[in-house]
Amino acid sequence: LKTLDVAAVRKDFPLLSRILHGKPVVYLDSAVSGQMPVPVIDRMTRYQREEHTNVHRGVSTLSQEATDFYEAAREKVRRFIGAGSVKEIVWTRGTTESINLVAQTFGRTAVKAGDEILLSAMEHHANIVPWQMLAEEKGAVLKVIPMNDAGELLLDSLDELLTERTKIVGVVHVSNVLGTVNPVKEIIARAHAKGVPVLVDGAQAVPHLQVDVKDLDADFYAFSGHKLSGPTGIGVLYGKLAHLEAMPPWHGGGNMIRSVSWEKTTYMAAPGKFEAGTPPIAAAIGLGAAIDYLEALGLDRIAAHEHDLLVYATERLTGIPGLRILGTAKDKASVISFVVDGIHPHDMGSLLDGEGVVVRAGHHCAQPVMTRFKVPATTRASFAYFNTRDEVDVLVSAVEKAIELFQ
Ligand code: PMP
Repeated sequence: LKTLDVAAVRKDFPLLSRILHGKPVVYLDSAVSGQMPVPVIDRMTRYQREEHTNVHRGVSTLSQEATDFYEAAREKVRRFIGAGSVKEIVWTRGTTESINLVAQTFGRTAVKAGDEILLSAMEHHANIVPWQMLAEEKGAVLKVIPMNDAGELLLDSLDELLTERTKIVGVVHVSNVLGTVNPVKEIIARAHAKGVPVLVDGAQAVPHLQVDVKDLDADFYAFSGHKLSGPTGIGVLYGKLAHLEAMPPWHGGGNMIRSVSWEKTTYMAAPGKFEAGTPPIAAAIGLGAAIDYLEALGLDRIAAHEHDLLVYATERLTGIPGLRILGTAKDKASVISFVVDGIHPHDMGSLLDGEGVVVRAGHHCAQPVMTRFKVPATTRASFAYFNTRDEVDVLVSAVEKAIELFQ
């Protein structure tokens, strides 16, 4: 396996040569939002400057051209996640909207009073709140798959938690706080053995792992463009065609209908019936370009490089007295949350910022995870393919400097 030429890759990211508070920026916040490489920005700019019009709007050459680019991006997504058909790829605004779509269409149809929705203990709020809202509306019950102190799901209890009342399982593929890579294939197989469909939140997985929705046998798989070297405002819901066909439409309006009359409206087939109104065309084309970029670098090379950074950073941070890493699962992506005795994670985040090191401090939209580990917040460094071991060293020195300041 040829390794990634990181020095060359970094030239595609102008932000990485910025100076922050007099220091070279060290961007360790890709779990919040990745950075877009220049080829992605250029592709979107070309669309905005020379190709901008609406899609699926009749006979004009420009509209047909825009439609082709937009639909080609959908095909890139299909191939990227191993889906069988482009009909299974629904454009959304992001992971959050994808999950809300499923909760409010599939969920609203399937879930009745007394039914159960099974989630894992390490879900992002995006895979909790939409289900809680549905449960409140329907009088349904949320149940939770617990985890151990390493941040690994306790699957011994899974068969018990899956009952004849369970209507859907929602599980995060990679935890945005703990970095845990969950064994979603096994979870899906065990849920399917009891006839229960599974939605996977893949927001943090697609940037790091080669995902194959068919191999996983996922019923639904959701992710966002902005964590995948693409822009904000675009995301994906993969759904098995049989589910999408059976689900009622969600938003109503133009672009999702077959015919409208005062008496009756009929809807397009999937994915069209879930895509009312004018979509974020430039963003979809940008996401397609991001997938091209990542595939050209090589997903296996990206994974190997990020794994090296994870191992190195874990080793170096573990050597700091008083620092505790949350999430020590055997199978982990390049996300490290930590707390330091006597220093609030927000103070740590601000001190690191002063050193040019961009991290996230907070509850990471996963408050139940904070409660589980009895911390108010954590500081989180997340590593992407453009990061280096030298940047890990800068992080470690900055953490040590913050600790000195507080002592
Ligand atoms: N799930 C996970 C695991 C995430 O990390 C995020 C983003 N922090 C989301 C869902 C929500 O993604 P978005 O805000 O792009 O909808």
